[in-house]
Amino acid sequence: MGAHIIDGKACAASIEASLKPRVNQLITKGLNPHLAVIIVGDDPASHVYVRAKERACERLGIKSTKVLLPGDIDFQQVIDQVIQLNNDPTIHGILVQSPLPKGMDEVAITDLISPVKDVDGFHASNLGKLVQGDSSGLLPCTPSGVMEMLEWASVSLSGKRAVVIGRSRIVGMPQALLLSQKGADATVTIVHSRTQNPEEICREADILIAAVGVPEMVTSSWIKPGAVVIDVGVNRVEDNSKEKGYRLAGDVHHDVCEVASAISPVPGGVGPMTIAMLMSNTVRSAELQN
Ligand code: NAP
Repeated sequence: MGAHIIDGKACAASIEASLKPRVNQLITKGLNPHLAVIIVGDDPASHVYVRAKERACERLGIKSTKVLLPGDIDFQQVIDQVIQLNNDPTIHGILVQSPLPKGMDEVAITDLISPVKDVDGFHASNLGKLVQGDSSGLLPCTPSGVMEMLEWASVSLSGKRAVVIGRSRIVGMPQALLLSQKGADATVTIVHSRTQNPEEICREADILIAAVGVPEMVTSSWIKPGAVVIDVGVNRVEDNSKEKGYRLAGDVHHDVCEVASAISPVPGGVGPMTIAMLMSNTVRSAELQN
């Protein structure tokens, strides 16, 4: 039945279209925006995500460099690579693809990236600026992409009740901050693995953001009639009828469409927005460093 589909691909395409003239203007000035992506190890999903980021760079005329490091590399060599990219004036954005091999400290590596080149927006300085309501920092791509999608779909947030399921450093927590910051003005509740009665709390939400990593956990009984639902989850679910042996599922079950007024699909929802916001951060970084 009836929920309106919030088309993340179309929203991402409109953001890319607005970035293209900014890239061209930088290139005219002799500065080609340049993103460096470090991958450590051979996690297959990481390679798929990085390829999608490279394709977005190609579409926009942003230069991209992939730095492939073996999974058994010494942590110090990963540190040295980040420092080298920090010191390279032709590189404007740096990201280290998650996950890193077991035992490597992702937060430590993120905090080594120069904050002006931190296009993932995970550096303590950028997250700190978000807490302070200071808009000069780079925002984390997935939650800022969700905010763009909500605006694009004309969802009004002010005074509305929003519930975010998940409190991770990269999605849930910054998402809650963005929804509640001045100007967005939603009243936000965070649900996590220790929350009692999560279903009841979610049923109070005018806007529900699911960033859990549990396939199809949120079903129609969790949804207030007419709520807007954004599904951040990307989960591989075994499916032998598919050539790859799996299908992609969100954190939200399809039956939610019968109750919600609008919903973002998986795939084709938040995923393309995350990449569009990465491109946006890369262009902004290049402009700031110009
Ligand atoms: P994460 O670091 O594993 O965090 C998951 C959060 O969900 C945690 O805060 C956890 O609570 C909470 N949680 C787990 N099980 C729960 C349950 N049964 N009830 C309530 N809360 C529960 O994951 P993440 O990195 O935030 O990613 C979340 C999902 O988004 C994943 O599916 C990921 O693949 C997807 N994702 C998509 C994109 C995109 O571009 N589309 C980008 C990033 C992530 P605790 O804190 O209590 O453990």
